[in-house]
Amino acid sequence: MNAILHPYRLNADQVPFVAAASQIATTVSAEYATEVDKLGRFPTESLTALAKGRFWGLLLPQTVGGSGQSLRTFAAVVEELAQHCASSAMIYVMHVSAAQVLAASETIAAKDDLLRSIASGQHLTTLAFSEAGSRSHFWAPMSEFRSTASEHTVSAHKSWVTSANHADSYVSSSRKPGASSPMESTLYLVERTSPGVHIAGPFDGLGLRGNDSSPVKLDNVVIADGALLTRQGEGAGAMLGIVLPTFVIGTAAMAHGIALSAIAHTRTHLIHTEFQHTGERLRDLPTLRARFADMVLHTERSRNLLGFALDAIEKTPDTAMLPVLQARASSQDTALAVTDLGMQATGGAAFSKHLPMERHLRDARAGWIMAPTMDQTRDFIGKAMLDLPLF
Ligand SMILES: Cc1cc2nc3c(=O)[nH]c(=O)nc-3n(C[C@H](O)[C@H](O)[C@H](O)COP(=O)(O)OP(=O)(O)OC[C@H]3O[C@@H](n4cnc5c(N)ncnc54)[C@H](O)[C@@H]3O)c2cc1C
Repeated sequence: MNAILHPYRLNADQVPFVAAASQIATTVSAEYATEVDKLGRFPTESLTALAKGRFWGLLLPQTVGGSGQSLRTFAAVVEELAQHCASSAMIYVMHVSAAQVLAASETIAAKDDLLRSIASGQHLTTLAFSEAGSRSHFWAPMSEFRSTASEHTVSAHKSWVTSANHADSYVSSSRKPGASSPMESTLYLVERTSPGVHIAGPFDGLGLRGNDSSPVKLDNVVIADGALLTRQGEGAGAMLGIVLPTFVIGTAAMAHGIALSAIAHTRTHLIHTEFQHTGERLRDLPTLRARFADMVLHTERSRNLLGFALDAIEKTPDTAMLPVLQARASSQDTALAVTDLGMQATGGAAFSKHLPMERHLRDARAGWIMAPTMDQTRDFIGKAMLDLPLF
């Protein structure tokens, strides 16, 4: 891999992580991706390989066994995974996003022990923000803490939790006691096996089918003081300042991985598929060449916009939110457009599932409705550029 020419502008230290992720993606994730999608089962093999490769702590500090890498490396790693199994990539994005909250927490007890178990691949975590009542408005939980001097209890209907049946813990959100606005939330950690945690049946989604995104009900779950991840009422700041950039960079890279795979499969198909009665190949048709070129153009434009957002996060963090949101909108639109063009360019081979194109199309559609949805992302971009408050 050429570090200089990568659109995420990796340096020589970052390239080996991406090469190792590519090795896992091509030798493990790729082998099980069709089965994971067909059965809607958790991609255990990929996640185990990522754990063994010490990817679960990619962004965590080296002092706790992490790799101390930046969002730039994370983006390139996720892109490699998504080229072969988008469900694995999505689970990984949710894990890393949640782990970032734990790493930044000033309130959680025994933090270093927890981070060490994440970095050594023994603790999988995830985000449990969306609620049935406020739907995709993840920043506005309906649930509320009930607090006494020594402990808190919470009941909540979390509507989608990636890795619900497999994560060891959920990074969750509820309003602080007596909150006057849904933005006055608190983040806290819930162990999956805590009394009062009920996971609704298996996930049977249209796309990202291996994601295990079941609803989870918290029924009078006791939350100790040491499980608070933010001070009471400061959850929205962590959601927007820590989770949002990590989640957006990760999902954008996932979308690009899906698009890159669609391009690779389309290319092979157009080069090798022949009209035997004329001796022409599909690549000899100008319409298909134009569609293929559009797939490449959309994808490379969007990858470069993500590279720009990564630069902004590192160099001008105070104003990085706008390019980050632009990268999210661009990447999800790109994945949808490119997989649809791929479906058109490869015709019946894609439609009959001889190519993974329709899986890519369904996976791209799932990324589109994850919050902030594309409608919300566009609205945020418009508000930011028209000097309006985001909320
Ligand atoms: C595969 C998958 C995995 C997920 N995993 C997780 C997870 O791990 N943790 C988690 O917390 N959540 C998760 N989610 C939930 C996700 O983030 C969204 O909350 C959920 O998909 C929203 O669906 P909804 O039907 O509730 O959306 P609704 O809020 O009902 O939206 C319906 C439509 O209205 C539009 N809309 C809503 N609000 C606005 C607005 N303000 N302006 C303009 N248009 C608007 C939306 O764009 C959408 O098109 C996951 C979702 C998917 C698909």
